[in-house]
Amino acid sequence: MGKPHVLVVPYPAQGHVIPFMELSRHLVKQGIKISFVNTEFNHKRVIHAFGKNVDDSGSFHLVSVPDGLEDGEDRNQIVKLTESLCQVMPRQLKDLIHKLNASDDDKISCVLADINLGLAVYVAAELGIPTVAFWPAAMFQLVLNLSIPRHIDEGLIDENGTPLMKDKMFQLSPTTPCIHPNNLLWLNIDDSPSTGKIMFDFFRRNNKAVEIADWVLCNSCLELEPEAFNLLPKVLPIGPLSAANRLGNLSGNFWLEDPTCMQWLDQQPPDSVIYVAFGSFTVFDPIQFQELALGLELTNRPFLWVVREDMIKGKHHVYPQGFVERVGNRGKMVRWAPQGAVLEHPSIACFISHCGWNSTLEGISNGVPFLCWPYFADQFLNESYICDIWKVGLKFERGERGIIGKEEIKSKVEQLAGDENIRTRVVELKQRVTKTVGEGGNSDKTSLSIVLYPFVAML
Ligand code: UDP
Repeated sequence: MGKPHVLVVPYPAQGHVIPFMELSRHLVKQGIKISFVNTEFNHKRVIHAFGKNVDDSGSFHLVSVPDGLEDGEDRNQIVKLTESLCQVMPRQLKDLIHKLNASDDDKISCVLADINLGLAVYVAAELGIPTVAFWPAAMFQLVLNLSIPRHIDEGLIDENGTPLMKDKMFQLSPTTPCIHPNNLLWLNIDDSPSTGKIMFDFFRRNNKAVEIADWVLCNSCLELEPEAFNLLPKVLPIGPLSAANRLGNLSGNFWLEDPTCMQWLDQQPPDSVIYVAFGSFTVFDPIQFQELALGLELTNRPFLWVVREDMIKGKHHVYPQGFVERVGNRGKMVRWAPQGAVLEHPSIACFISHCGWNSTLEGISNGVPFLCWPYFADQFLNESYICDIWKVGLKFERGERGIIGKEEIKSKVEQLAGDENIRTRVVELKQRVTKTVGEGGNSDKTSLSIVLYPFVAML
């Protein structure tokens, strides 16, 4: 019998590729072979950062399929990308599986697919291959998506996913986040008017993958979301797949990390640096960008700011006049940071974050308190977890035209620095989540004994 061989299929976005990579490495360590599927567009970026398409053990291979878009098209337009994937990917995945099975002694024994790309689960089921569906975001977000029929019955939304109670926040229980109806996932992906219905149908189809899959895993844990896991016992907690597990350029990064920020951090006093990063997608309004720069300047504290090349739509970012000279060595700007290592560094005092789920987990795993600056998708739900439920961070208040002003930035940084309770709570939470992924912890037990067992038994 050949080696167990898992085909791994994430949704093609940075915040999905990274946790799938983390999970894959976990499987490689157990003696499982991985073929990791990126779209051709992302494949080139990952190879550029990784340097090759196979790891040293020979058990981890990067493979690719087209996403159906033309070369110059914008992959940040999620709706367009998603529609194209739904059209081309089922055929592409089938062909890939046939090709791998024909050329490799170890046939694909399992497909590990993103619930956000439910079509991969259907393809595997059609070919009779066992499936593991993985949800890389908060468990409660999956609960909300799966509760669509209930939301319709209770009059929260109509059959097209449009909210009916527009201004009423809702909360399923005191230990789950507060949600504004406008922040339901499908309404909150991008601004085009047809988005809501297209994404609503897309998420509804993905929900079926949870029913079909043989196992369902989530990058979260009982310690963070007890109630959500209680509501969906089929889903097993295996997280947080910690950022600390990353092995340098094998992380699945789309951009090259700038290592100079680590030397800069070494020069800063303990517990002093504001780390500012908004993940891989968030795009800034030029006025908001300037206001953030001025706010960081006003704090008079050291800061490390990730300024991606594509941070301002269609334009190159411009700092306020004289900003770079005035902040001098107190401010360090990089295009992409080794975020796992940054958040682990003793000089980090707080994290100004867009509240992507990976960033949320990485901050908590390192005991770093948050200042929350959500933009879209699940980020508002994660903000509510951070500020209302776990109470390990503060929200920014938006002013005129939705802008967060420089004085607000300064004042929240100071408020957080003076709040001992928040800092104590985040360290306690760090201890609990570290324990759960450690040997014998809840997340460790589910991943090893239930999910890996059939594969390990084959070895
Ligand atoms: N990240 C990184 N370097 C950076 C900024 C982000 O490595 O400079 C990583 C971060 O550690 C996280 C991922 O990119 O794992 C972003 O995922 P998240 O869910 O936080 O946000 P998204 O990009 O999906 O909005």
